[in-house]
Amino acid sequence: MTKRVYNFYPGPATLPLPVLERAQKEFLDFEGTGMSVLEISHRTPEYDKMHNDAIDLLKEIMGIPDEYKVLWLQGGASTQFFMVPANLQVPGKPMEYVDTGTWATKAIKEAKFYGDVKVVASSEEDKFTHVPQDIAFSEGAAFAHITGNNTIYGTEFQSWPDCPDEVPLVCDMSSNLMEQSMDVRKFGVIYAGAQKNLGPAGVTLVIVREDLLDRVPENIPTLQRWKTETAKNSLFHTPPVFAIYMCKLSLDYMKELGGVPEIEKRNREKAGYLYDVIDTSDGFYKGYARIDSRSLMNVTFTMTTPELENKVVEEGLAKGFVGLKGHRSVGGMRASIYNAMPVEGVKSLAEFLTVFKEENQ
Ligand SMILES: *Cc1c(COP(=O)(O)O)cnc(C)c1O
Repeated sequence: MTKRVYNFYPGPATLPLPVLERAQKEFLDFEGTGMSVLEISHRTPEYDKMHNDAIDLLKEIMGIPDEYKVLWLQGGASTQFFMVPANLQVPGKPMEYVDTGTWATKAIKEAKFYGDVKVVASSEEDKFTHVPQDIAFSEGAAFAHITGNNTIYGTEFQSWPDCPDEVPLVCDMSSNLMEQSMDVRKFGVIYAGAQKNLGPAGVTLVIVREDLLDRVPENIPTLQRWKTETAKNSLFHTPPVFAIYMCKLSLDYMKELGGVPEIEKRNREKAGYLYDVIDTSDGFYKGYARIDSRSLMNVTFTMTTPELENKVVEEGLAKGFVGLKGHRSVGGMRASIYNAMPVEGVKSLAEFLTVFKEENQ
C-alpha cells in the first residue's frame, strides 16, 4: 500500500483509516448479498437495515430526542441555504441571521429570495476574525440562523446565543458536527454537509424538530419540502446510498471510540497543540481568529512574509502534511483537524512547525 499522509484539507476531508479499510473489505459483497452496496436497490431489506441503523446510531451518539427527524438529503449544505427559508418562513415575520463570513453570507443571500431578512449581528468590519458576542434575536422572528463554525476563518461559537423560546434556532454545523457534546434541544434545525466531520461528500444531514414541518406551504415543489422526505424516511427518491453507508461506518467507528465525549477530548487536545505553537512563537506564527472565538476544527494562522508561508507549506508537504494552504480570502495557513484527524497527525504537525520556527526565525 502507498503511504498515507496526514490530510489537513478543509473538505472533503480525512476519514478514519479503519472506516476506509472496512469499506474496502465489504466493497464487493455487502451483507452477504454478493453485490456491492453501490449496486443494490435502496428498497432491499439489507439496504433498509443499514439506512435505519445509520439514523439510530446518529440519534444515539448525538443524543437526538424523539421529537426530531433525521434526514439524509442531497445538494450539500448549500441547498439547505434555501431549504431553510423555504420551509420555515412565516409571512410578515423577519428571518434573522448572524453574519460570520462566507458561508453565513451565502445563507443570507438565499433567504432574501423568500422574504424579509434581518442581519442582527455581523463581524464583517473585523474581517470575520471573531464571532459576534451580543446577539439579540427578536421575539417576532420566523427563525434565527447561525453558522456554528466558520471553516474559512477558523472561528466558532464558544457558547450558543440566546434565542426566544418560540423562535427556532437553526444552525449550519457542516464543519463542527459532533465536535463536542451539545444539547440538540437548543435547536429547531441542524444541518450539515457530511464531508467534513461525518463522512464523504454527497449526503447532507438535516435534523429537524417535527412541529416545524407543518409550516411549509403546499404550493412549493415537492422536494423543496422537508416534509416530503420525513414522510418517507429519506427514501422518497433514490438516496445517496454509498455516502450514507460511509457515514454509517464512520458512526460505528465513533461509537466504538467512546462517542462524542471521547471525540471532544481528542479535539481539544489536538487544537491545543497547534494553538500552543502559535501562542508561544513570539509572533512567528500569528493566529487569524481572535482568541475568544477560536475554532477547534480549523486552525488559521499567517506568518510574517508570503515567502515563509510558501516555504512552510512546501516543506510540510514533503513531510506528508497535506492541504495546509489557507483559503484565498484569508491567506496564510489553515490546518483542518476534523473529528477523523488522528491526535498523532496534529502532534506531528505541531512538532514540525516548532522545528520550522527554530530553523527559520
Ligand atoms: C463547507 C461548508 C458549507 C458548504 O457545504 P456544501 O455541502 O459544499 O454545500 C456550508 N457551510 C459550512 C459551514 C461549510 O463549512
